[in-house]
Amino acid sequence: MGVAERPFEMIRYERPSANVARIMLARPEARNAQNTQMLYEIDAALDAAMHDDTVHVVIIGADGPHFSSGHDIKGKAGRGQPGDFGPPRMGVGGYTRPGQEGHMAHEQEVFLGFCWRWRNMPKPTIASVQGKAIAGGLMLVWPFDIVVASEDAQFSDPVVTFGVNGVEYFVHAWEVGHRKAKEMLFTGESISAQEAKELGMVNRVVKREDLESATLALAEKIAKQPSMGLKLAKMSVNQSLDAQGMYNAIQSAFGLHHLGHANMRIVHGSAVEPTGANKIESQAKADRPNVDGSKAKSA
Ligand code: ZN
Repeated sequence: MGVAERPFEMIRYERPSANVARIMLARPEARNAQNTQMLYEIDAALDAAMHDDTVHVVIIGADGPHFSSGHDIKGKAGRGQPGDFGPPRMGVGGYTRPGQEGHMAHEQEVFLGFCWRWRNMPKPTIASVQGKAIAGGLMLVWPFDIVVASEDAQFSDPVVTFGVNGVEYFVHAWEVGHRKAKEMLFTGESISAQEAKELGMVNRVVKREDLESATLALAEKIAKQPSMGLKLAKMSVNQSLDAQGMYNAIQSAFGLHHLGHANMRIVHGSAVEPTGANKIESQAKADRPNVDGSKAKSA
């Protein structure tokens, strides 16, 4: 059974042209909120693309007006533990252990583990982003090599309001620089597509109606390059970041992230500040852009 025929429920795996694969987040009714099942499906689709020699470049895009509203905190669909939707990939284990132990193991596997695994996959990957990418939504953007955004795209990590440092794949300072990283974390405010481009986080900004074609054209251009050259170029850039301590910095921040979760468990009896989700939801509504991409005046 080819990967395109696999019974994915949260994503679609497409082949828009001969040497390009495209993974589409397919929960627009839930603003592409991520659950464990979706993350395993993305991982399986990326794995299939990497093992298919006819695929030279992989696009990650999303159906609907918003790329991803982050982790699905409220929905019941697709929840579960590593192992429920495919074999665990990162060699962690202990997901059902009580207290912080099981929670940390879960996030080591499906959040930090997957992001790092995807970041190091050998073929070029392009994230194609419209609308909002909130919190965990950034973890479906930042691990990939190139970011094409439409003019209405907005990027934010408001999870300080949960009493933790930021999302589990903590690469903010690498992505937007240390000053902007602090501002986006301290305020929870979003960064626009244009601002993200100026900060070096986004490669290209295009009109919303051109997002799909512009991303595909870029993928097809890259796909013509020798695969070995692409692989070596990707590894070399990643190793340049690794030589500056990127992996160690991510691991250190992940430890602090779980200090935050553990502290909330002691203080509130839940892994995140209990009012955080509502605060983020109301902020997301207030930030919602008008159709033309300008900022909404009110919620
Ligand atoms: Zn967490």
